[in-house]
Amino acid sequence: MSDSAVLFKNVSRHFGDVKAVDDVALEVKDGEFFSMLGPSGSGKTTCLRMIAGFDRPTSGHIYLYGQDVSNLPPYERSVNTVFQDYALFPHMTVEDNIAYGLMIKKVSRAQRMKQVDDMLDLVRLPGFGHRKPSQLSGGQRQRVALARALINHPKVLLLDEPLGALDLKLRQQMQVELKNIQQRVGITFVFVTHDQEEALTMSDRIAVFNQGKIEQVGTPAEVYEHPATSFVASFVGTSNLVSGEVAKRITGSDARFSIRPEKIHLAAPSQQMGAEMFAADGKVRDVVYLGLYTRYLVELDGGGDLVVVEQNLKTTSMDVMKVRGQKVRLFWQKDHVRYVGG
Ligand code: ATP
Repeated sequence: MSDSAVLFKNVSRHFGDVKAVDDVALEVKDGEFFSMLGPSGSGKTTCLRMIAGFDRPTSGHIYLYGQDVSNLPPYERSVNTVFQDYALFPHMTVEDNIAYGLMIKKVSRAQRMKQVDDMLDLVRLPGFGHRKPSQLSGGQRQRVALARALINHPKVLLLDEPLGALDLKLRQQMQVELKNIQQRVGITFVFVTHDQEEALTMSDRIAVFNQGKIEQVGTPAEVYEHPATSFVASFVGTSNLVSGEVAKRITGSDARFSIRPEKIHLAAPSQQMGAEMFAADGKVRDVVYLGLYTRYLVELDGGGDLVVVEQNLKTTSMDVMKVRGQKVRLFWQKDHVRYVGG
């Protein structure tokens, strides 16, 4: 069997003049938790719909486990999709919702009920089988939708912003749970999100989309620590992008670079730095105290500004506010700088 669960070869999907997906090459490996991350309109959902078979490429080919499925209808593909709006049948019980796929396949009732119980255990909803979807919370409904998709044992599970409708706390809980479930069942998950934190938390690898193209594919650490382009640097986490004259004053070269706010430190203006550091002088224009950490906006002498984030390990909100308006020297390790194209 092929090692790639999903393979895109030169896949494009154009709607008139709109290049929703533009000559994309992509490989998702068997058993991976793979995220498609990008802003609204970047082509993620169109890619997902083409894997599911709800949409077809204008050109190029899509393979599932080595088989060219470009022209196969959705029901002939071993994939299932979980949507943001759950799409549960409101008049059916949780049990019947989950068993629906098996009923279509004419699996016996006894068999169905056994598998439904296993699924309810997997998504941590034992005993909820007789409820109706309206008697569940948003997070519980999403788990039922997951169980309903997983009971068919698809080779690939497609998830389209499945946590988008949940509040922050529940979403964070479900992120951990979803990753956990994926590891237990070992099925390839392809997850669409515009939330970079979500992608970083759950994924084995992430593809970062921008305007119908993939700018980078990598592990969360690779994408975060080594952004390939300035788009990736600014979309995944916050980053300072520095170029031209400002870059030249700091590094000696006008090559564009990115530096993460948490890698920059604040010091007194006169502080001497070692040769392994870059430094820049400026004035603190703004201070935002955020409990765990504080965000500073520093206006550099001679133009440009940098965002700095420091944890409030010893400082209180009173301490950090006093920094506003003061002259500071910023410094960071040279090897934390990433030179980015585009
Ligand atoms: P979102 O996060 O908002 O769902 P996305 O990254 O998933 O965005 P897509 O839904 O794939 O983006 O859309 C990519 C582009 O293709 C957008 O410009 C969108 O307007 C366009 N598009 C998608 N479907 C159609 C369609 N059926 N007809 C015309 N244009 C479409």
